[in-house]
Amino acid sequence: MDRITLSENLGSKDRSSRSHSSDGITTPRDVVAYSKRRGLDGVAITDHDTVDGALRLLGKTDLIIIPGTEIVALGGHILALNVTKPITPNLKLSETIRTIREAGGIAVAAHPGALIKGFRSKSATPDFDAIEVINSTASPFSLSTHLSKKLAVRLNLPQVAGSDAHYGPEIGFAYTLLDAAPEVDEIVRSIKSGAVTPFGRPIPWRLRLMRTSLNLKKKFK
Ligand SMILES: [Zn+2]
Repeated sequence: MDRITLSENLGSKDRSSRSHSSDGITTPRDVVAYSKRRGLDGVAITDHDTVDGALRLLGKTDLIIIPGTEIVALGGHILALNVTKPITPNLKLSETIRTIREAGGIAVAAHPGALIKGFRSKSATPDFDAIEVINSTASPFSLSTHLSKKLAVRLNLPQVAGSDAHYGPEIGFAYTLLDAAPEVDEIVRSIKSGAVTPFGRPIPWRLRLMRTSLNLKKKFK
């Protein structure tokens, strides 16, 4: 069985560039160290609108790195897993999903039950390959998890989990258990087949506050 966490973010090197995930403060070294500490076998790096963070880690660790990105689409956020190029934002959900598939990836509805940045109920679609039912950053956690699970059951889609960490110590508060050969293609196939189980809990407030204060420091440096 492999433990994989599916929606982690790195920090950008260049915070002036809008094309980078500017809200993360995780370094590639943090990803490896904290993932191992949490007993994870793999991690999907899904920075907002860029795959650079994921590409920086590929081949540099014995952890399984799933390259990906999180895209803001019309109607909600989408995780693209197993893609190595950025996906155009602000398209309709169906168009975004098609673009992800053309790029060789799978499309996962990100934190659909979250109050902020969740899905508008009408926009959820059975075209997704999976639903992120547990997201450790989503708030309020229990309600978000409940609504996301309900959606996954209604759409009859596989259920996965990720921490949505933007700071090293936040990695691994949620993870997905699956049984696959340690290769990205096999892992993605196993997610699509639905032979996956989501686990997780919310990121403690102590860590969230720590991250917020580090982010502020970074901003005013
Ligand atoms: Zn999001």
